[in-house]
Amino acid sequence: MVRGVEIKTPAQLDAMRRAGHLVGETLELLREAVAPGITTAELDSLAEQHIRDGGGIPSFKGYAQPPFPASICASVNDEVVHGIPGARVLVDGDVISIDCGAIVDGWHGDAAISVAVGAVRPEVGALMEVTEAALWAGIVAGRLGGRVGDISAAVEARVRAAGDYGILEGFTGHGIGTRMHQPPDVPNTGRPGRGQKIVRGLALAIEPMVTLGSPYGVELDDEWTIATSDGSWSAHYEHTVTWTPDGPWVLTALDGGQARLAELGVLCGGR
Ligand code: MG
Ligand code: MG
Repeated sequence: MVRGVEIKTPAQLDAMRRAGHLVGETLELLREAVAPGITTAELDSLAEQHIRDGGGIPSFKGYAQPPFPASICASVNDEVVHGIPGARVLVDGDVISIDCGAIVDGWHGDAAISVAVGAVRPEVGALMEVTEAALWAGIVAGRLGGRVGDISAAVEARVRAAGDYGILEGFTGHGIGTRMHQPPDVPNTGRPGRGQKIVRGLALAIEPMVTLGSPYGVELDDEWTIATSDGSWSAHYEHTVTWTPDGPWVLTALDGGQARLAELGVLCGGR
């Protein structure tokens, strides 16, 4: 067992599901709101309102140093992750990655989606599909008794099989529970059979960050936003997941992952 790994009871996972569901709802609300003409600050306001109305606390607000100033990360085009919402107006053809986290009764949910603003270039659409498919490949590669490396290898294989994409270096998924970021790391590249064992009560945030070019990110002057080093565009999808004897339970998917898992021929482990 990796030091510091937090194992949840079934009742605690039910509590995490409430946080995850609120995050999933918030992201669906934002997906509907994304359109040419809206600012990223407006999306952030919608998110904060929905999280607070649902009895949650936005976990990103005030996080780390310098304190993150908003309830979502809004990363547009060449920005991969950790973009700060603001006055930027979305325009037709943009792609926005929205990352959202909430705390309910002390338990965290964390998820992200990329959304096309109007019509995106075909290669951007393909990038989004590949990145989301890699997330689900990772989810279904996890199983009780398996290893975190199984997830990492599946994410990587799905991206590599699709073409010449960059997998962002230096950023990983993570354990999650009473804190947003806990051990173990969940890399987006790796080898099967390595790393932390996947046991009942483990919860992981799996989050592929994929680019149309360079795998390297640069931090912008705002000390948060990570953009690609070569200006290539990127996508980011994330879910908070746990595994039960029946299969994966996607805590941040509104249906627990059931529909998507069924498409992949996998039973859902959610209650
Ligand atoms: Mg996140
Ligand atoms: Mg995360």
